Amino acid sequence: MKILIAADMEGVTGVVNWDQVNPSHAEYARFRKLMTEDVNAAARGAFDAGADEVLAVDGHHDGANLLVEELDPRVRLISGSPAPLSMMQGVDETVDGVFFVGYHARAGTQNAILDHTWSGAVMNVWLNDVLVGEFGLNAAVAGHFGVPVLLVTGDQTACAQTAALLGELEMAVVKQALGRFSAECRSPQLAQQEIYEAAVRAVSRLEQGDAPEPFIVDLPVQVRIEFAKSSQADHAELIAGLRREGTRVSFQAGEMLSAYHTFRAVVELAG
Ligand SMILES: [Zn+2]
Repeated sequence: MKILIAADMEGVTGVVNWDQVNPSHAEYARFRKLMTEDVNAAARGAFDAGADEVLAVDGHHDGANLLVEELDPRVRLISGSPAPLSMMQGVDETVDGVFFVGYHARAGTQNAILDHTWSGAVMNVWLNDVLVGEFGLNAAVAGHFGVPVLLVTGDQTACAQTAALLGELEMAVVKQALGRFSAECRSPQLAQQEIYEAAVRAVSRLEQGDAPEPFIVDLPVQVRIEFAKSSQADHAELIAGLRREGTRVSFQAGEMLSAYHTFRAVVELAG
């Protein structure tokens, strides 16, 4: 059994503000270590429950946050950016399940640490009129390969939002968000024990045929993006085939991987 751990940083144990996830800030060193430990807890749970292969992909910022020298030596790490599948590099038909570790709620969410959707420019993204966040886009990429998301870790709001979209997956709530920049945090020791136990349950359910369904979008998929500023939409609409209305652009894609690629190109251009 092969598990892919897709890791982000905003939902990591103890993280409550941008300084802590910003490589140019002194605080960052503490939190990349905690990110690594959260991933290790998830990996240990996966192995203990019967996984024989765990891949981790580092999805925050430039994809170079996880400390390779401190990772569980059984884990293979996909590091750096950009990779063809970005935050989901490593997923394919040989993967049996995905863990989202350190995830955050979508932009505009109340009581959600560092809520956003991919970049500060994006207010909302819909796939076929379903509002999704980063977690939804990434889950749909896994769904393209028929792979379910089994586990999410982050604050209570990120976990609830992910479960609302993807179904009854396992979760580990590592902090209770009290706002965008404030949370009641569990100690890393206890939070990581909970991540470990949730990972064990996630893999056990998969083995018993009780995993959540993969998130598979109907094709062709309609993608609609709402930007914060009209100037961002001015840039985005330069891509051929996009429709534009105010701060929103939309396009259709024949399959989910090209939808994901076009989304990333549009957001990159929007700045
Ligand atoms: Zn991030």
